[in-house]
Amino acid sequence: MDNDAIAQRRLLLASDNPGKLAELRALLAPMGVRVEAQGALGIRGAEEPHGTFVENALAKARHAARASGWPALADDSGLCCLALDGAPGVRSARYAGENATDAQNNARLLGQLAGSTDRRAHYHCVVVAMHGGDDPEPLIADGRWDGEIVDVPQGSGGFGYDPHFWIPGLGCTAATLDAHRKNRISHRGIAMRALAALLRERWGW
Ligand code: IMP
Repeated sequence: MDNDAIAQRRLLLASDNPGKLAELRALLAPMGVRVEAQGALGIRGAEEPHGTFVENALAKARHAARASGWPALADDSGLCCLALDGAPGVRSARYAGENATDAQNNARLLGQLAGSTDRRAHYHCVVVAMHGGDDPEPLIADGRWDGEIVDVPQGSGGFGYDPHFWIPGLGCTAATLDAHRKNRISHRGIAMRALAALLRERWGW
């Protein structure tokens, strides 16, 4: 284990999404962890060619750890529909094609589900942390958020498929929740908190 890197409690986020950076900083600041985004070190994002969330998260974390020499954290997430055998899955961001907009992806989703009475879906998120590019024991946590896809959009918050992601227990879509409320119950919030617990337990953070 790379004890120096662990002792310094610094972590590189393998993403340049400012929302994710802010969330992660808020979660790990009480543990004295300094988090930077890979772009701040001039590191570009890795390819995500794999068929599972965990493989893509591992590829991103390994790439960032190798390029920086820092411990790195990556997440990969998406929406899985039961009636579509798990699609859009790892292709969630580009379901309607490379560089597709949220509106285009949502339109394709509703098209694929047209006529289907099984609207069950869940968001899935996998988070991985590696203390170096050759770490044989990556920390891996995941989170899942169950819901249903509705045809009529509701709400203007969130992003991606949120206006169509109905949460039966709350009687609203994910796009009606503010960021704080969403983070308490979402796939990403669950996975990030589980990963923080692993950082404490295994890395002594
Ligand atoms: P990424 O893991 O941040 O790259 O997200 C992959 C894609 O999954 C996003 O572009 C969205 O299409 C979808 N996705 C993941 N998490 C959410 C969410 O919380 N709300 C809506 N869409 C999401």
